[in-house]
Amino acid sequence: MIEENACLLEQEILACTRCRLASGRLHAVPGEGPVPSRIIMVGEAPGEQEDRTGRPFAGRAGTILNNLLASAGLSRNDVFITSVLKCRPPGNRDPKADEITACKPYLDRQIVLLRPSVIVPMGRFSASVVMGQFGIPVGKISGIHGRAFPADAPHGPVIIFPVYHPAVVTHNPPLREELAADFRCLKEILAGSSGA
Ligand code: SF4
Repeated sequence: MIEENACLLEQEILACTRCRLASGRLHAVPGEGPVPSRIIMVGEAPGEQEDRTGRPFAGRAGTILNNLLASAGLSRNDVFITSVLKCRPPGNRDPKADEITACKPYLDRQIVLLRPSVIVPMGRFSASVVMGQFGIPVGKISGIHGRAFPADAPHGPVIIFPVYHPAVVTHNPPLREELAADFRCLKEILAGSSGA
């Protein structure tokens, strides 16, 4: 039943025209991964490669993410990867408030369906949206990354664990080690919550 509902939600997203981004997309990108999923990784929005392929984190940032997941003992098959917006903003501009309002209910429904124990917002934008949803004070990503924030989701307790966006290492290489350290910490959190 849960898989069936996830499939219906995916179809709904693929056909969605709730906001202006529908008119410029090649593909909506609902996300992919196991259903249910212990971990949800949340990016900002699809980029060019994601729009072209319909898959989340399909470009260079995706390769970086794959390596980071491996360092935490994970593969893409172990996590559900999605984003706050499911369609690409033109030119990869920042999402607009009304686009977030239109699209975020999909992320909310994915969280309810997937029943994660850990949600990992990637980047300042995603961290702001996800932490705001759970009533957690939102600070600069430089001050909150790599920290575990307990929260109550509709299905039970979750840990919100913000990290830098993987793409950050392409334009700010010194942050590579901080990002790697965050994923080592994620590995410890998962080990500590196994069987929970
Ligand atoms: S961004 Fe979200 S709300 Fe806007 S058209 Fe795409 S799926 Fe629908």
